[in-house]
Amino acid sequence: MRRGDICLVSLLQKHPKKSEHRPPQDHIPQLQAALLDWFAGHKRPLPWRETYAPYEVWISEIMLQQTQMERGVEYFTRWMRRFPTIQSLAAASEDEVLHLWEGLGYYSRARHLLNAARKIVTECDGVFPSSLQKIRELPGVGPYTAGAIASIAFGEKLPCVDANVERVLARVFNVDAPVRQAPAAATIQRLALRLVPDGCTREHNQAMMELGALVCGKKPRCARCPLSVFCISYHLDIVNVRPVPGKKTALSAISMATGVLCYQKKFFVQKRPPSGIWGNLWEFPGGRVEEGERPESAIMREFMEETGFRVKPVQRHGIIRHGYTTYRITLHCFGLRLDTGESGELSGQDLPAPPKLTAACDWRWAAPDEITALPMPAPHRKLADRIMSLP
Ligand code: SF4
Repeated sequence: MRRGDICLVSLLQKHPKKSEHRPPQDHIPQLQAALLDWFAGHKRPLPWRETYAPYEVWISEIMLQQTQMERGVEYFTRWMRRFPTIQSLAAASEDEVLHLWEGLGYYSRARHLLNAARKIVTECDGVFPSSLQKIRELPGVGPYTAGAIASIAFGEKLPCVDANVERVLARVFNVDAPVRQAPAAATIQRLALRLVPDGCTREHNQAMMELGALVCGKKPRCARCPLSVFCISYHLDIVNVRPVPGKKTALSAISMATGVLCYQKKFFVQKRPPSGIWGNLWEFPGGRVEEGERPESAIMREFMEETGFRVKPVQRHGIIRHGYTTYRITLHCFGLRLDTGESGELSGQDLPAPPKLTAACDWRWAAPDEITALPMPAPHRKLADRIMSLP
């Protein structure tokens, strides 16, 4: 037996104490039925579960890849209020879509949603495609999302393996290797497919994910679990070591500086290029604080490099910390004024010359209400809110 396979026999021999166990591989129909029964009585009333409309399933799947359920429902509800149909989404501006997505991160996903909606309108008469292959051709739809939409919205017999499902399967079948690495990843996929019953893929896939979210979480509540009688890990008292953890990516810490340059009650903002991190979002200029550099020096250097403006910090707006999947940033924030050299200040009548942009594709002097409407990355939105709330 290879590592990553289900290792039932050896472990049962070591831990023979629970006699009521029904090995899951020998009781698939009973396990399926227990799961579906539980789901019928415990599922959360999520908005996309009302009709399982393909458009709604799609949006929910993309949103939930990066946020917790409660927050996901909030964003989903707001999204559907503004873009109730694929057509309304397709007709929106990118700025508006990004603005609605603000705070969710991974902004390329929002741009893909918009492009996919436009593709559906122009190439599929506005009707969401039902075949797995066509769904897969939509921008931003990978194999997992395509399978989720095909199975949940259209009932295609496919498993849906997200982190919740991986955890449930690793425990129920006692997969003894990290579930995202070969060969265990293939074992998980095989098990997931084997468990999908004929005729009720939608409910089954939703039930697996729901069980992982509500019962078989990081701290499993086995006493309330409909699968405990089948679960090998529960039977062997090894729930706390399943799933086997994979390699952890070390988080890197990044120190950055940014500054708000105010001129005649307007703020200088620039739009990032379409590709790369925070693509097409608006921000206050700034960048990394180099090793040994003071944040005040970094913001003067960055502003000059990115815009050609010579600036001086005149105020501190505190520090904003923000975490991403693989790094955490500490953002030092300043209020700035233009520094014209000898005289020290620009007179109120002078107009600043246009910037010489090197890290952005657009710029503007934006009034407070414009700033509110522009899509910004979360740390810059926090800074904007901080500025707007100043007396
Ligand atoms: Fe998860 Fe416990 Fe249920 Fe097993 S018995 S599936 S470990 S909650």
